[in-house]
Amino acid sequence: MKITGLNWFPYCLPFADAFGTAQAALKVREGFIVRLETASGLVGLGDAAPLPEFGGGYPADVERWLSELTPGLVNQTPEAVRPVVARLRKNRGPGAAASAFALETAAFDVLAQAAGLPLSLWLAATYGLSPPSADLSVPVNATIGQPDIAVACETARQAVASGFGCVKLKVGMETGVAGEVERVGAIRQAIGPDVKLRLDANGGWAVPQAIEMLMALAQFDLELVEQPVTAADLEGLARVRRSAKMPIAADEPVISLETAENIIQTGAADFLIIKPMVVGGLGAGLEIIEMARLAGVGCIVTTTIDSAVGIAAALHLAANLPASIPFCGLATASLLNGPLVENAPPVVAGQMQVPKKPGLGFDLAFPV
Ligand SMILES: [Mg+2]
Repeated sequence: MKITGLNWFPYCLPFADAFGTAQAALKVREGFIVRLETASGLVGLGDAAPLPEFGGGYPADVERWLSELTPGLVNQTPEAVRPVVARLRKNRGPGAAASAFALETAAFDVLAQAAGLPLSLWLAATYGLSPPSADLSVPVNATIGQPDIAVACETARQAVASGFGCVKLKVGMETGVAGEVERVGAIRQAIGPDVKLRLDANGGWAVPQAIEMLMALAQFDLELVEQPVTAADLEGLARVRRSAKMPIAADEPVISLETAENIIQTGAADFLIIKPMVVGGLGAGLEIIEMARLAGVGCIVTTTIDSAVGIAAALHLAANLPASIPFCGLATASLLNGPLVENAPPVVAGQMQVPKKPGLGFDLAFPV
């Protein structure tokens, strides 16, 4: 099975609503759908949408990588993508992780199709993991990023009404404890006592501020808090974790197997947030999940708010989390507008059914 074509198509998907984070307000997601075609007629898809706002590089960086690497892959088997992905993971420069994710996903998509397996089961077989149930659903959280409290509450109410069991709220945009207490308290009231509530501060607080903040916010029965302090300060994150009543998750510093290992060794987190498009692919994600499992640290898989291709790939990875899968951040299609999110695996009653067809197992609404 030879690669006969490797092409990429730019996309730009606007956010459906104002989306705030402690680092930046996000307006659009820009990237590329990568399309890998084989001589046998199989087509594999990948998604490369780096997050410039979080240091992931720009689409132009991805385009440079793809232009440089494609000539060496055409006329090779899809397996030839593996050393290329390893090189990109090692490089870690702008756009490298997103490019690795896209190329690897497209290659794994055709390899899984050729094997007649959904990508989730193909990954388990390839990486020597116990196979996920063929009828698996992954519980997912709703993500609330509207800076306006009233709008955020209305979105949270709608999410609960449609069956979500967990809401993740972006925080770190308010100044001071009183503002955050008002925001988080309003959301807790909107969703009621039984729905899980997690916060994501995207590194927006200094260490003493985070300690004070989490003490004041503990009254709202928080499931966990993501990245209360900056990614660069693992010792600080560990200090916040020791003083906090709720579990702490590390997100922004999880960019490779090595950084994930540092987080675990520093005792900085109860959970790691795994984004396959940030750590350099599904294989990298599986390696981190296995390392964390052995260390007794939980993992949550999320997207970086991508096209349906990125969402589906992340879902197949999440299906390989150890049993009792936590709520994962995959229900992000509704945050964007455009044809490339339309056919994302649907969320039904707060769960995403893992596609059962071979490969990624879904049809893009907008064929490339
Ligand atoms: Mg996060």
